[in-house]
Amino acid sequence: MPHSSGGGSHGGGSHGGSHGSGSRGHRTSHTYFPGSTRYAYYHKGRIEYYYRDAEYTENDLKDKTKTRLITALVLAVFYAFFIIAIAGSTINIPRKLKMDYKDTSISISDGKELLSEDELVRIGDSFSEFQDKTGITPVLLIIDNSEWMGHYSSLENYAYEYYVQRWDDEKHWLIVYSTDSNQEWEDWHWEGMQGDDTDNILTTKRTNDFREAFQKGLLQDRQPFADSFLDAFNSLSDVCMEVSFEPMALIAIPFILLHATLFFYGLIFGAKKNEEKARNSVKLEKDVQYVEDTCKWCGGLYIHGIHLSCPHCGGTIDPLGEPINVTSPESLIR
Ligand SMILES: [Zn+2]
Repeated sequence: MPHSSGGGSHGGGSHGGSHGSGSRGHRTSHTYFPGSTRYAYYHKGRIEYYYRDAEYTENDLKDKTKTRLITALVLAVFYAFFIIAIAGSTINIPRKLKMDYKDTSISISDGKELLSEDELVRIGDSFSEFQDKTGITPVLLIIDNSEWMGHYSSLENYAYEYYVQRWDDEKHWLIVYSTDSNQEWEDWHWEGMQGDDTDNILTTKRTNDFREAFQKGLLQDRQPFADSFLDAFNSLSDVCMEVSFEPMALIAIPFILLHATLFFYGLIFGAKKNEEKARNSVKLEKDVQYVEDTCKWCGGLYIHGIHLSCPHCGGTIDPLGEPINVTSPESLIR
């Protein structure tokens, strides 16, 4: 079959590839807009007519592919950092605090004479062990309710002031227990006050567990103060240096992955579709009446006069049977 060996025209000049035109707009529309050219897109045996503001050349397509790859890469790095940041925030790795602060003396101050010799020793041993592991200095303070009631709005305020007046570091854990020692209905209170540097070890989860265990010992199990306190404290001490996970934040990850997938899908397949459309389109001249016909091989629609073979199946095209639409002078001469 014959094929073109190049061309040009007097009025139209000659045509070649375009360079550096990747940033030109590629607006497409089903209706005419100023500066647009009509195209016919062959797809699944049909013709879709649309308007495009710039010619799609192979160079444009290559530039677009490059831009897309760079965009995809930048986004992939962004998504990866996002996921790593979230995953990182869910993992807590406690590290022993440096004991570089002034007052590292463990103290148990029993203003109510609640503790026996033996209990004092047991609590002291637990505190020492905890301090060796964590670098946090624990302090237990047992007071009468009258120490703070009427002077402070809450035991928390009392504990806060107690802490900041004694220590200028953030590495202590003060536990204040206050009671009236009433035998019938004991009005006890307690409050923990931890320095900021202890947060990685005394996490919210662990101090919540401590609180629950301590309360349970005092209320439900009706244990003496020392047993309740030691059970709760030792349970915390046993696990406080373990790596812990807060899996709740991980819930966000599937959503991020879904978002990323949709984004990449759109970026790659959306653009691929556009490219496919551009490659399978033919430019239509203005003011020309085109005649549609049906391919005898595949039944697909095509436009007469601009193809050498069927744009759908590649089959040979018959010339128009009756030259009714052809009004050029050449055909009249023939
Ligand atoms: Zn065909």
